[in-house]
Amino acid sequence: MGNVVGIDLGTTNSIIAALEDGQPWVIPDDDGVLLLPSCVGMDDSGQLLVGQSAWRQYAAAPERTVKSIKRQMGTDHTVTLGDRTYRPQEISAIILRSLKQRAEAILEDEVTQAVITVPAYFTDSQRQATKEAGEIAGFEVLQILNEPTAAALVFDLDSEDSENVLVYDLGGGTFDVSIVEITGSVTEVLASHGNNRLGGDDFDRQLQRNLADRFLQIHGTEVPNDAATQARLLQAAEQAKIALSEHGFTTVREPFLASKGETALHLEIDIAREDFENLIKPLLKETLEAIDRALNDADMTADDINRAILVGGSTRIPLVQHLVENHLPDTPVSSFEPDLCVGMGAALQAGVLSGEAVDSILVDVSPYSLGIAAVMDTPMGPVSGMFSTIIPRNSVIPISRSQIYHTASNDQEIVEVEVFQGENPIAKENVPLGSFRIEGIPPKPAGAVPVEVHFDFDINGILTVTATEKGKGQQQSLVVNDTKTGRLSSHELHQSRDAIASLFNALPLLEAENEAWNDVDVTPGEEE
Ligand code: AMP
Repeated sequence: MGNVVGIDLGTTNSIIAALEDGQPWVIPDDDGVLLLPSCVGMDDSGQLLVGQSAWRQYAAAPERTVKSIKRQMGTDHTVTLGDRTYRPQEISAIILRSLKQRAEAILEDEVTQAVITVPAYFTDSQRQATKEAGEIAGFEVLQILNEPTAAALVFDLDSEDSENVLVYDLGGGTFDVSIVEITGSVTEVLASHGNNRLGGDDFDRQLQRNLADRFLQIHGTEVPNDAATQARLLQAAEQAKIALSEHGFTTVREPFLASKGETALHLEIDIAREDFENLIKPLLKETLEAIDRALNDADMTADDINRAILVGGSTRIPLVQHLVENHLPDTPVSSFEPDLCVGMGAALQAGVLSGEAVDSILVDVSPYSLGIAAVMDTPMGPVSGMFSTIIPRNSVIPISRSQIYHTASNDQEIVEVEVFQGENPIAKENVPLGSFRIEGIPPKPAGAVPVEVHFDFDINGILTVTATEKGKGQQQSLVVNDTKTGRLSSHELHQSRDAIASLFNALPLLEAENEAWNDVDVTPGEEE
């Protein structure tokens, strides 16, 4: 038994997995349930609720319940619970800490090191926030690992020939598609593409709107727009969506949803799978376009793909499977524990990093280009604000690259280094990552002072930028990460860590998780 774990910190559900004899297995809760809803709340007496208990109170008390916080990671957004406001990384830390407790109880050992997964398309600040969440929860974060890469690690291919695998990952809040080459035990990501704002939550909202429209048609009255009623409707929509993965029809029943005069109005609506499919088809079309783009980036066609793997809870929707199969007509499409394999892959990678005997090596890539705004020569003459790429998309990470730039005007004293990620030739059309200045450049003619810009993109997909003014042989440098949105200082990190730890210490509810583990019969990869 090791004290390293892999964690899939999902938009909707999270899991924690450990290794036993080199094999990953998912650690369940008291009731043998493997998935922890990524939901945090406070009950009316101010007690912290995590997971299922928070999820259950959502419809009754949405103002005291936080879900899908993953969508806010890396932003300045805050949420209030009880008498305190929380940053997204603190809410995520509560989920991680709850998973940590779960693992420590069953492993009967402290769990200190973790690999945590993120969508391949997460930006630098979203990755940083995830790493901070891990640290606040009391982990040493060994690596922030791309989810599709983690999933591919679980597929143990016997063939010694290399295979090209397409990983299609559609979860609650994000979508990724990656082309991965697996040769024996080496996994190399060749290309990755996606949308970090597309997933099952969007399908729920489409269905919620549809139910509200049909309620209006039937009763001539709008569904009340208060948070509690809308939360009930959203939960009903998600349940209907899940039922439609199994059945051709389902009935949504929500009694006393509204009233008209003295009369209570109930929602009772039949939905056919086909109606639901028509609602989500446009969103799914986007995912097929992303497949083509990833193939294109990997210089491949569908014929080059040996198999496709479906990952993420939303791939249980039959239409998703059909569309992917039709899009890749000659490729076998398979799925293995779509909710669990990302966490299991993270555990494998944690084993590799901590020196356990695990039979896999991972080569990962940067899913986007990184560079700075610069004046560039064009057929129309020099144009400022162009995007100069320093690390091209799909470079194998970790990677360090330097590029020399020159001052653009006579006697230029200041160089502003603005860092972006993206693919647009116009710098400002890409995602800004931060900026800093080098001042006190000696007065010289335009082009006479060279400035070296150095990018370090580490194994976590986190970027550090250094700029050095070479003119006088002296070095001036700054780290771009220090200036970014949504980040916590190390003092704030410590404060958060203490605050979250004390929330847990005051929590009899979670301590109950420590009991009776010996009675649970758990085998590697067991499902709920
Ligand atoms: P994940 O982020 O991989 O945990 O996926 C969570 C998403 O999968 C949520 O939007 C769930 O509603 C959705 N989901 C889980 N099970 C099913 C199912 N059987 N059919 C359709 N969607 C599902």
